[in-house]
Amino acid sequence: MEVTRRSFLQTAAASTLLLSLDRLAFVAAPGRAVAAPPPIPDYRSWEDLYRSKWTWDQVVRSSHFVNCWYQAHCAWNVFVKDGMVWREEQAADYPAIRSDTPDFNPRGCQKGACYSARMYDPTRVKYPLKRVGERGSGKWQRISWDQALAEIADLMLDTITAEGTDRIVWSLGPLYGTHTAGQMRLAFMLDSSSLDMNTEIGDGHPGAAVTFGKIVAERSLDDYFFSDVILVWGCNPLYTQIPNAHFFTEARYKGAHVVAIAPDYNASSIHADQWIPLNPGTDAAFALSLAHVIVGEKLHDAAFLREQTDLPFLVRANDGRFLRQRDLQKDGSADVLYVYDQRAGRIVEAPRDTLALGALEPALEGTFEAHTSAGPVQVRPVFALLRERLERDYAPEQTAAITGVHPDVVRDLARRIGTAKAVANVTSSNLAKFYHGNLMERAQILVFALCGHMGKRGSGFSAFPFLTHDGADTFAMLHRTGWIGKLRLMADIWPMLREAKKPGMTDEMLHYELGNRGLQAGLTVSGVMFWNVHGGLLEVSGRSQEWDPHLKRPVAEYLQESLDKGYQYVWPKPGNPPRILFEYGSNILRRLRGYPSVVKHLFPQLKALVTIDWRMTSTALASDYVLPAAGWYEKAEHKWGTPLMPYIHAGSKAASFHEAKSDWEICSRLARAVDERARARGLASFKDRHGGERPFEAFYDAFTMQGEFGETDDEKVAAELLRLSSNLKRVDWQQLKEKGYARFTGVGTSAVSIGNACEVPADDTVRPFENHVAHKVPYPTQTGRIQFYIDHPFYLELGETLPVHKAPPKAGGDYPLTLTGGHTRWSIHSAWRDDARMLRLQRGRPVMYMSVADADARGIRDGDTVEVRNDLDDFRIQAKISPAVRPGQVIIYHAWENYQFEGGKGFQNLIPSPLNPVELAGGEGHLRPIPICLQPSQNDRDTRVEVRRVDATRPA
Ligand code: SF4
Repeated sequence: MEVTRRSFLQTAAASTLLLSLDRLAFVAAPGRAVAAPPPIPDYRSWEDLYRSKWTWDQVVRSSHFVNCWYQAHCAWNVFVKDGMVWREEQAADYPAIRSDTPDFNPRGCQKGACYSARMYDPTRVKYPLKRVGERGSGKWQRISWDQALAEIADLMLDTITAEGTDRIVWSLGPLYGTHTAGQMRLAFMLDSSSLDMNTEIGDGHPGAAVTFGKIVAERSLDDYFFSDVILVWGCNPLYTQIPNAHFFTEARYKGAHVVAIAPDYNASSIHADQWIPLNPGTDAAFALSLAHVIVGEKLHDAAFLREQTDLPFLVRANDGRFLRQRDLQKDGSADVLYVYDQRAGRIVEAPRDTLALGALEPALEGTFEAHTSAGPVQVRPVFALLRERLERDYAPEQTAAITGVHPDVVRDLARRIGTAKAVANVTSSNLAKFYHGNLMERAQILVFALCGHMGKRGSGFSAFPFLTHDGADTFAMLHRTGWIGKLRLMADIWPMLREAKKPGMTDEMLHYELGNRGLQAGLTVSGVMFWNVHGGLLEVSGRSQEWDPHLKRPVAEYLQESLDKGYQYVWPKPGNPPRILFEYGSNILRRLRGYPSVVKHLFPQLKALVTIDWRMTSTALASDYVLPAAGWYEKAEHKWGTPLMPYIHAGSKAASFHEAKSDWEICSRLARAVDERARARGLASFKDRHGGERPFEAFYDAFTMQGEFGETDDEKVAAELLRLSSNLKRVDWQQLKEKGYARFTGVGTSAVSIGNACEVPADDTVRPFENHVAHKVPYPTQTGRIQFYIDHPFYLELGETLPVHKAPPKAGGDYPLTLTGGHTRWSIHSAWRDDARMLRLQRGRPVMYMSVADADARGIRDGDTVEVRNDLDDFRIQAKISPAVRPGQVIIYHAWENYQFEGGKGFQNLIPSPLNPVELAGGEGHLRPIPICLQPSQNDRDTRVEVRRVDATRPA
């Protein structure tokens, strides 16, 4: 058909009108009850709508308070007319920090740019809903907020009084924004359990955690302009860090050599100087082959290794344990470890208060004799053991068969890294999502540490980016505002602080110690432990032994041992089923690998599953109550960020949506309902899980700090969080909301930020670990160093004391294809996964990328529907054939909602996420759960599948 200019304009005009009317549908559609409809503007035609798009009543600064994590966040101008948001534009006025690095302008992505449309689409929840049919049947009754909250409060009171406070569980989305303040306060006051979601989503970086004693370590984006080599290793920032990616590509203009290391020729590989394809799951072997060359050619930095790492620490030859003071003296400490001082010619205690060695010169090689209480024992430095292992197992010629990478490529890159002044990596949480991701990360960090690429300008290993204000924890516990409130809180927690602080502990170590106590007490609960013990996930995740040939005993045994010995913790205790589950910014039926087990085991035990969200998610569809939360432009908000973009972002309320309420208001009203229902039922107090008596009387008064923070006082809460923060000095809410952003003034004291261990200078880049490398502050590990040797019994049993390569398990069964994934380009998690505008940029439905060779071998053509199956289950999806995909690998970018698949069966149903026993270790040194890490993780990248064509529309 010929498309004339006139017909094109007519079509475009009709589309504009349809789109505009669609966005007005919620006010215009007959039969739809609306609580407080905005006035309907007097539009006469589509031209009026079009013209009005360029007029507005006000412009509000805001952002998208979604978990876009690595790329968070961007300041946007939000244009409001007639009470509706019509469009948004990037603000693009971030100041320049240095004259020789680029500024952060402009920031944004295509998802953010269409949020003004997304916020009015049919997935929004308009009013409180109560399930009236079978779970998931889609039969709902609209109820009032008062009814919903009173019924939920009654169920909570039933649970607290009959079974215990810990049976109420909050499953969370990302934390630390204004939206968190009410939930944290309510959970703290009612002694309910909040799940730590970081390891649940597979972001626990287990290798970085055991090596650094923490996972948070990230530079600012402009610091990449000082890097000579940038390793884009195990990630695809062109998809996952859209506003950031230009920093990596532009660094090449300043001479950086960018190397992409990934199995597939992904969008980021295209922009690199060099692409090194390797077989999926073989990153540890590749890293160790680099280490082999670096050590073999003496490119390592011995001074750095002596001072900053555990490589000079002495290990006993007879049992593989560190030489400890308790081996040498009766009543000696298990924490005092030893090195061999070459100058003094004897074994000496390793310094614990500082990394500075003074006159010490610890040996990296040699065999020495230690006189233990049980007799003489031979000891050797970790470096000597490591060098032998590298020489024996990881020559590039040996690893080529594992990784598929030619030895010359390995040698070339190792020399480049070994001779460069500054090497940095771009990180993601991808390798953390492999079963052996811990080994991959430990081996990656080894490459950086060997050459001293750590804690310097343009140089260092980034693990996990997190930078938040530290006011939320304080706000959750505060009795009243002002200095009197702070003093009273200090008096409450002072005895615990005094007891927790041990000699030699740095501030950082103390905050992790407190975080660990929060997990022990059940204030925070490891999500993975919870879902395995109470959610039935162990049914599939406990089958590790079938798929991992290195396991000699069932993983359930390790789990039991871990619980019995207090390595890891879980609340409620095993055998005490949870009764009320709040889905608060979470979406477990989309994100939990192996979710059908949760539906089967946990759901029948619940009295209520309550989803609080702005849209109807997979989990909301299966809930008993769904409460509508305000969208991102409908509330006052600020939230966490990352050092990559070291600014806090904020937004103020630009519009309202039906009966949706801000998170603070929802939690406040729930607190009031608990108070009222307790009074009506004559309940004066309750017992917390530790036997303490807590009042129901004046519960609401206490929650609001005697009326200081009313139900609609979101802005006051936002302002108070800033006032309580130590790392946003002189940042005032009024100015922040008008500007939309402010630079952090430090990393603060939150357990999820302090690990960056550096300054956030106003006029310079952010360089993590400077405190350790430049100022010689010990790392929060057992050795006080970057620690490559782990002598915990689980590690000894499984042969993982040093970083090694282990073949990926055949998770799900012995099938020929490995199903991997990654963050999608067209959504942030599931927030835009079913968005019509984003779907138009793709195939409009879930797809699985497949290599040409694998497709040909199975008679599959592009666009065919295929069945994917393994021992667990099956599902159907469209095949997308791509020459960029490596044979043997199939890829599904994440976060499709279950209802987008045929029969509602999402692809997480056949991902078993086998538990890795070493992640259940604890009870020694830094191996114990702390916030966001050192807990077991969910993983998904080793899932094995077979695929067959089921498309009936064409002959085979
Ligand atoms: S979704 Fe995140 S990255 Fe995208 S524009 Fe919004 S804040 Fe920026």
